[in-house]
Amino acid sequence: MNARKEKVCQEEMCADQWEALSPELRAQCATFVYCPFCANEMVTRCSACNETIHDFGFRYCPWCGADFGE
Ligand SMILES: [Zn+2]
Ligand SMILES: [Zn+2]
Repeated sequence: MNARKEKVCQEEMCADQWEALSPELRAQCATFVYCPFCANEMVTRCSACNETIHDFGFRYCPWCGADFGE
């Protein structure tokens, strides 16, 4: 199983603003530490199971075993 590591803001109020960003801009957001819309700390999430990943260097998801393919 393949998945992606997604850097996201956990604040639901920001979801619409993130949706409005272009894919190119969202790709750059992977390096962000804080959300530009609410200043909360961004979290890394597995795109397969949506669980939070605490180490961005993980090659496999510790929750569902998905391969991040890096
Ligand atoms: Zn936010
Ligand atoms: Zn997972």
